[in-house]
Amino acid sequence: RVVVIGSSNTDMTVRLPRLPEAGETVLGGAFTTTPGGKGANQAVAARRAGAEVVFVAAVGDDELGRQALALFRREGLDVSHVRVVDQTASGVALIFVGDDGENMIGVASGANARIEPEDVDRLPASLFRRGDVLLTGLEIPHRAAVAAMRRGRDAGMIVILNPAPAPAAASPDVAELLASADVVTPNRLEASALAGISPRPETDWADCARRLMAKGPRAVVITLGAEGCLTAEGDRFDRIAARRVVAVDTVGAGDAFNGALAVALAENRPLAEAAAWAAAASALAVTRPGAQSALPRREAIDYLARN
Ligand code: ADP
Repeated sequence: RVVVIGSSNTDMTVRLPRLPEAGETVLGGAFTTTPGGKGANQAVAARRAGAEVVFVAAVGDDELGRQALALFRREGLDVSHVRVVDQTASGVALIFVGDDGENMIGVASGANARIEPEDVDRLPASLFRRGDVLLTGLEIPHRAAVAAMRRGRDAGMIVILNPAPAPAAASPDVAELLASADVVTPNRLEASALAGISPRPETDWADCARRLMAKGPRAVVITLGAEGCLTAEGDRFDRIAARRVVAVDTVGAGDAFNGALAVALAENRPLAEAAAWAAAASALAVTRPGAQSALPRREAIDYLARN
């Protein structure tokens, strides 16, 4: 089983011929509304990858929140610990995408920002089972993520932190966040930010992973986009190639990866093998447009992973 404690947003996207400058209005867009939020994406990814999933999150007492809850139920997530926060709006991400694929994103966290350590304290002990995976991220308050990770650790769970969006290296939260996780899964930007380096084509990612492990986690997986990922666990480092696919939309690749990685680790698979399976899941996700709608099911992941 996988327990995801994280964000839920509604993504409102406007496609434009080009991104506006500050103060500018650009006409000619198409508008879409899709479910999102890294936590929700990862919970759905893990569910479709074959695990029982409990999603711990907060939505507002509004139409967007009700729609999100209905969707989570349809996906088969256990939503008994999703809190509906009174007099609060659900999280919304406003996204501009230019014709070249570049984007600009602003997030109104809404109910996500109201997840407190006390909410974590109130969760029943039955949620924290030895050997299960707890997966969390940073679109919720850092202190709530830390509280969740500590409880997971104390119970003997495998605790994964997807450190997205990355806090600045100078943030006082970084040390505590890294020290509370077993496995940390940054992309290149997040890994650099956490290690306090600037990302360059020649960056030595194994060295970066070593620096992060020195701050607490027993393992680090740095995802490298179309170049795959690097897994590091103690003295063991593995480079895992990305699966070669025609990428249509790479939004949510990391979420597909994290959801699948969580499932594989909950099945007790070794880290490098789990990451290779997650690479297959995320490769499938980039071949389809959208974030949640593009997430693959277990049979498809297994098929690609075997071939
Ligand atoms: P994020 O989406 O968080 O920025 P990455 O871009 O590093 O994360 O992608 C996560 C994983 O998704 C990669 O490790 C890789 O396995 C897979 N992936 C991303 N882009 C591609 C691509 N173009 N082709 C195949 N796999 C990809």
